[in-house]
Amino acid sequence: MIEKDLGFVLKRHNFRETSLILTLYTARFGKISGICKGFYSGKKEFSAHLDTFSLNEFVFYPKRNEIWLISHADLVSDFFFLRKDLSKMRVAAFLFNVVEKAMPLWDANYQIFNLINYCLNLLSKEKEMKVLYLFLIKFLTLSGFKPELDRCICCENSLQQESLFSISRGGFVCRRCSHRVKDIQVISQQASRSLAYIQKTDFPLVLRLNPTVACQEDIFYILREFMSYHFDFSNAAYSSIFKIPQAALK
Ligand SMILES: [Zn+2]
Repeated sequence: MIEKDLGFVLKRHNFRETSLILTLYTARFGKISGICKGFYSGKKEFSAHLDTFSLNEFVFYPKRNEIWLISHADLVSDFFFLRKDLSKMRVAAFLFNVVEKAMPLWDANYQIFNLINYCLNLLSKEKEMKVLYLFLIKFLTLSGFKPELDRCICCENSLQQESLFSISRGGFVCRRCSHRVKDIQVISQQASRSLAYIQKTDFPLVLRLNPTVACQEDIFYILREFMSYHFDFSNAAYSSIFKIPQAALK
């Protein structure tokens, strides 16, 4: 059956002389892979450039094979501002890389689609590092990697002012249980409260949070360790996003 849906171009590569293979994150189908046959032979069905980051309306034919046939694409937004700002572009590329890596094919999640859309637009007006940690905390929560930030991961009692985090167990530990977990990281109270606040507060309210530089460093430390434990972070270019100069957090 033929379908029409909005989708972000996560990844693209050429196929043979004239075709293009895309990995998309769509609103109703989640991540999909598709081929635009004859893309480079100037077919009028592909008026859009289909650059990475762009949001397009696609017409395609879902089937059992991994690669679907995309027959039509119209540009909705190309987020052109990213091309004029290298550090924003770098953050956008990282976010897309995370979505591409973490999400399985055909696992529809409209909240994640919305989050990508919201955060790409947010990059035009907010600091890229703020968008980065907001996106990652929300994304991990929505995609099933949800870090436990409200209750102790051992005894499940609700937490008061905990600052002990276990990367391998993916959450905070209360003082009484701390001897039961090996990999405890201590972060500031402000950072632990900020992490929990971001996880449960929606946009745009969550934008009011303005953590200090030290607090942001703690947040990024936890995110980096959490993501390198739960994702494949072996690629140096991939993990370099977390080497953040202090100036970028001010
Ligand atoms: Zn406990």
